[in-house]
Amino acid sequence: MTLTASDAFVFFGSTGDLAYKQIFPALQGLVVRGHFDVPLICVARSGWNVERLKERIRDSLVHRGGVNEEAYQKMVARLSYVDGDYGDPATYQKLCTALGESVRPLYYLAIPPSMFATVVEGLAGTDCLREPRVVVEKPFGRDLASARELNCVLLSAFPDSAVFRIDHFLGKEPVQNIYYTRFANSILEPLWNRNYISSVQITMAEEFGVNGRGKFYEEAGAVRDVLQNHLLEIVAYLAMDPSAGDHPDAIREESARLLSAVKPLDPAHVVRGQFRGYRSEPGVAPDSSVETFVAVRLFIDTWRWAGVPFYIRAGKCLPVTSTTVTVSFKRPPRETFGEIVPAFSNHLRFRLSPDVLIGLGIRVKVPGERRVGEDVELVAAQSEGDAMPPYERLLGDAMRGDTSLFASEGSVEAQWRIVDPILGNVTPLYFYDQGSWGPAEADQVIAQDGSWYNPARVEPAVCPPAGR
Ligand code: NDP
Repeated sequence: MTLTASDAFVFFGSTGDLAYKQIFPALQGLVVRGHFDVPLICVARSGWNVERLKERIRDSLVHRGGVNEEAYQKMVARLSYVDGDYGDPATYQKLCTALGESVRPLYYLAIPPSMFATVVEGLAGTDCLREPRVVVEKPFGRDLASARELNCVLLSAFPDSAVFRIDHFLGKEPVQNIYYTRFANSILEPLWNRNYISSVQITMAEEFGVNGRGKFYEEAGAVRDVLQNHLLEIVAYLAMDPSAGDHPDAIREESARLLSAVKPLDPAHVVRGQFRGYRSEPGVAPDSSVETFVAVRLFIDTWRWAGVPFYIRAGKCLPVTSTTVTVSFKRPPRETFGEIVPAFSNHLRFRLSPDVLIGLGIRVKVPGERRVGEDVELVAAQSEGDAMPPYERLLGDAMRGDTSLFASEGSVEAQWRIVDPILGNVTPLYFYDQGSWGPAEADQVIAQDGSWYNPARVEPAVCPPAGR
C-alpha cells in the first residue's frame, strides 16, 4: 500500500517541555536520516519570534544529544512561528496563511490535554484542515467516558486513518521485538496458548520516584501513567494473533481485538501501593491517595488464553529500573527421572530495559551418575544498534501516514474499559518502603501461581535460572 507523506509539520506546544526534551532532537534525527524536509510551523502563545525559537531549538539540541550543524540549519531554514492563543480563532487564520500551498499538513498536539478539543475545534472551524493528519499526545482521556468524548471530537474533524494517538512506548525497539520475535519464529506459535503456558508476568520497576513531577503524577498515578497504556500494550503484543495482511492498520486492529477480549479488572485482584515519602514531594497533597505502585491479575477471554493469568506490576522507588516479561510454561505432567519436578520449569523472558535480552529457561542434566537436573537459561542479548529514539521513529511514521505503531480508537477505549473498575480509590492503598518491591500485599495477587519474578539491576555475564 502506498502512503503519501505529509508536506508540513505544524507543531502546537513547541515552546513546552516535551518539545525541548524530546521533539526537537527527534526532528533533527529525522533530518539527518533524510526523512524530514518540510516546513516546520510552530504555534504557541509565548510572544516569541523565529529567532527566539531558533535559540530554543539549538539549546534543546545542545542539552539533549548534540547539535548536527548541517541538520539544524536545514531544519531552521524552513521554520516559521505563529503566535496566538489556541482559544482564539485568529490564531488559526494566521496558521492557514503560514501553511501556504501545503495540502497535507501534519498537526502535532504536544499540548496540555485540556487543550486537545479546543485546538481540534479551532482547526475544524477554518479551511486549515485540507488533507490533514493529527498526532495527539498522551494521556488520551482520564477514563473510558473522557476517552470516548475525545475520540468523538477528533473523529468529527479527522478521518480515523488520519488520527495518530501517540504513546512513545510503542516506538521502542524492545517492545516491537516482542511482536517480531513471536511471529518470526515458528517454533513459538504452537506453544503460545493455554495448552502450554501457565502464566505470564510483566514487571515495570522504576528505581526513581516522581523526579519533581509530583503535580503531574497526582493527576495520573501508576494505573493511568503506565498500566492503562504501556503495560496493556505489552499484553496486546504478547497475546494477540498475527495480523492479517500488511496494511498499516493491520497490527493495531489485531491488537485492539485482543484488548477488547481482556476482562475488566476485578478490584479483588488488584493491590495499590504508595511509597513512604511520596506525600512530602513538591506538588503532592499531604493526604494523597494516588498510587505509585500497582499489581493486578487479569484474564483474556479468548480460546487461546482462557484461564491463563497475566500478572502485571509497576512501581516507583523499587530496587531497580527494569521492564521484564516472563512467560512461564506448564511443568511436565509427572515426576521425571525420579527427581522432584522443577518448581518453575521452562520460561521465556523478555528483558525490555535497561538492556535488551531474551532468555529461554530450560532444565538440563547435571553431569554425574545421578539423573538430577538444574535450571539454566539460554540468553540472546542485543545491543541498541541503529535503534531510533521512540519519538524519531513515531513522528517519522506519522509523517509517512503509517499508523501501525499508534493506538486506534478501539484499543484506547478497550484499555480504559479494562482499568475503569479500579479507578477512583476503590481499592485500599498500602504503604511500602522505598527500595522494597512494593507492599507485601502484592504477593497475594500472585500467590496461587508462585511469586513475582524480581528483575536484576544488571544482568550477570552468565545468567542464573530466572530469578526464582
Ligand atoms: P508544557 O506545559 O511544558 O507545554 C505546553 C505547550 O502548550 C506550550 O508550548 C504552551 O505555550 C502551549 N499552550 C498551552 N496552552 C496554550 C494556549 N491556550 N494557547 C497557546 N499555546 C498554549 O507541556 P508539556 O510539553 O510537558 O506536555 C505537552 C503534552 O505532552 C501533554 O499532553 C503531556 O501530557 C504530553 N507529554 C509530556 C511529557 C513530558 O515529558 N513533558 C512526556 C509525555 C507526554 P506557551 O509556552 O506559549 O504557553
